[in-house]
Amino acid sequence: MAINKQHYEVVKQKIQGKAELCIVSKKRSREDILQYYTMGERIFGENHAQELLTKTDLPEDIRWHFIGHLQRNKVRLIVPYVSMIQSLDSLELAKVIDKECARIGKVMPVLAEFHLALEDTNKTGLSAEDAVSFLQECQKYEHLDVRGIMAMGPHTENTDVIARVFEQGHGLYLDLQKIFGPEKIQILSMGMSDDFPIALEHGSTLVRIGSYLFED
Ligand SMILES: *Cc1c(COP(=O)(O)O)cnc(C)c1O
Repeated sequence: MAINKQHYEVVKQKIQGKAELCIVSKKRSREDILQYYTMGERIFGENHAQELLTKTDLPEDIRWHFIGHLQRNKVRLIVPYVSMIQSLDSLELAKVIDKECARIGKVMPVLAEFHLALEDTNKTGLSAEDAVSFLQECQKYEHLDVRGIMAMGPHTENTDVIARVFEQGHGLYLDLQKIFGPEKIQILSMGMSDDFPIALEHGSTLVRIGSYLFED
């Protein structure tokens, strides 16, 4: 058994009443996913289209979240199976998701991914200054429903720096709620294995946790 039940209990207790859990199941076996499924978990995150496609015969009430950089030529393959794309990082991608979802009669919930950690500038994600215009542009796509934002913490062990980035993410989330309405902007996806407690202190409503929940 390669799931970590103790860590799972810690996560469940910390998120209680605050956030939902997306179990990041990339590189994890079907058996491990099914164990968490049996324990009642339904949201699983994958970051590679090809890998996701090998897992789509798992129980159909699993809600797959796509969390990695998505190439436009992979959109058609995955849209039938995913219930949310957390990693919308360009208008070109928005356009393709809209087109492919129109083809199959689906409206895709998406999160706009922002790049807030200032030190590594070559990472993917939108910049905060472009947030309002980006979301406005997305409104013209009828098969795309922007439900909130996703952000990654910085690669550092300095908790003050991590906290500052998550604070910025929360501020952006609140600004977007004011402009587009809290009924539309409902999800702030922040926090992974190493930083989810800090993300929860800064208003995260959805944590994406992988390695901490598994044994190896
Ligand atoms: C892998 C991944 C995670 C989970 O990372 P862990 O450190 O294993 O918890 C979260 N979000 C994204 C986008 C990822 O690619």
